[in-house]
Amino acid sequence: MGKLIVSKFGGTSMGDAACMLRSAEVSFRQGSSLIAVSATSGTTNDLIVLGKTAETKPWPEAEVILAKIEQKHVKISDDLKISAHAMERLKVLFEEMNSLAKGIHLLRDCSVKAMDTLMSLGERMSSVLFAEAMAQVLAKHNSKKVAELFDVRTVLRTDDSFGRAKPLTSEVASLCSQYLGSLRDGKTVVVTQGYIGMTDEGMTTTLGRGGSDYSAAVLAEGLSADVLEIWTDVAGIATTDPRLCPKAKPIKEISFKEASELATFGAKVLHPATLLPAVRKNIPVFVGSSFDAEARGTWVRKDVEDHPLIRAMALRKKQVLVTLSTPEMLYAHGFLFQLFKIFNDHKVSIDAITTSEISVSVTLDDSALLNKKLIADLSQFADVQVEENLALISLIGNNINHTAGLAKHIFEAISDINVRMICLGASKHNFCFLVSDEQGPEAIRRLHECFIEAGTEEMA
Ligand code: ASP
Ligand code: MG
Repeated sequence: MGKLIVSKFGGTSMGDAACMLRSAEVSFRQGSSLIAVSATSGTTNDLIVLGKTAETKPWPEAEVILAKIEQKHVKISDDLKISAHAMERLKVLFEEMNSLAKGIHLLRDCSVKAMDTLMSLGERMSSVLFAEAMAQVLAKHNSKKVAELFDVRTVLRTDDSFGRAKPLTSEVASLCSQYLGSLRDGKTVVVTQGYIGMTDEGMTTTLGRGGSDYSAAVLAEGLSADVLEIWTDVAGIATTDPRLCPKAKPIKEISFKEASELATFGAKVLHPATLLPAVRKNIPVFVGSSFDAEARGTWVRKDVEDHPLIRAMALRKKQVLVTLSTPEMLYAHGFLFQLFKIFNDHKVSIDAITTSEISVSVTLDDSALLNKKLIADLSQFADVQVEENLALISLIGNNINHTAGLAKHIFEAISDINVRMICLGASKHNFCFLVSDEQGPEAIRRLHECFIEAGTEEMA
């Protein structure tokens, strides 16, 4: 029996008919058994605008967006010359999109629940088109395999946190063996949707923006796949964001631990949750470009050959530093517990933290401040100070917390840049600190030059 490969193609890989055919060629060459696709690029954003417009604006304005989304998909279907059957399927989805928007407009209410069903149409439409592209590529290569469109909601069971639903791992696994058990026979290539799922009650959910990577990983886990491939528009994970630093270079191999830190701390290539299922089942993940499949791409696995001191660095902008102080913390217990309970109640995630005897500083995405109640609740039992416009810089690598002289090298490289907070020690793989948003890119360029371009061998 061959390898079971789960592949995911992102929005840009679904951009138009040519992109779809190119992506289908990549899957054919790779021998993918199951392909989870994103919505065509820009469509999820258009659907969000559609929902909001239908809720708050006169109906003709919603009709303009409906027409735009339809035309984009009709253009791809014309270019691909899809079958009458597939065209019928697409039309049913257009009708559903119209009815949903109309319903939202009549009720003047676009709840997160309604928004999830509306957004699911992006992936449901693109997968109809991609299944056609896949069938054409299989036929062109005289393959005996058949492309089969599959509604992922049959197997991707989630909880009911609409807008950011959590996949239910064991349910997904048993549904996968029930409905997709024959995948290893190698007779079909299943084309399905990323990003979306369904609750026990049959309500459509989404896994959060950019969640298709995560979907593919959840499916790979549920199917006990041998490999998970994430196809995007860049040739793998780079040492840093090439837009910040033109000398960034692709990473050949990176460990699960380092890549998880990198994804969480700002690298845009992978959705941060993607690696969790892969780690749980020890499934190697390949990240590559569907536009340049020959480029080497990046392998993310449990064990890697080399363990450089600094392998990559990330910049996460728009961070806020919230400092909470109270003399009551002196010799007291339970303070951190109460504090974290508030963050937990507000579902706000903290990235970095440092404490002194009477104060605690945490970093958050600035979007957390939109929730005024959070700050009010924190102010109930501590002085709260908020500093905005900060950037979190993370250096990712190995043995970071046991390398003499590393901090000296880092801060020498950026000696004229003010550092607001430092976090070191909790992880062997991450050293992070805050600088101003403005100076973030310059700090990254200097650190990249010092640690990646010049190499760190002598320190490791
Ligand atoms: N289409 C969804 C989004 O744009 C999911 C994804 O592309 O991963 O967020
Ligand atoms: Mg995406």
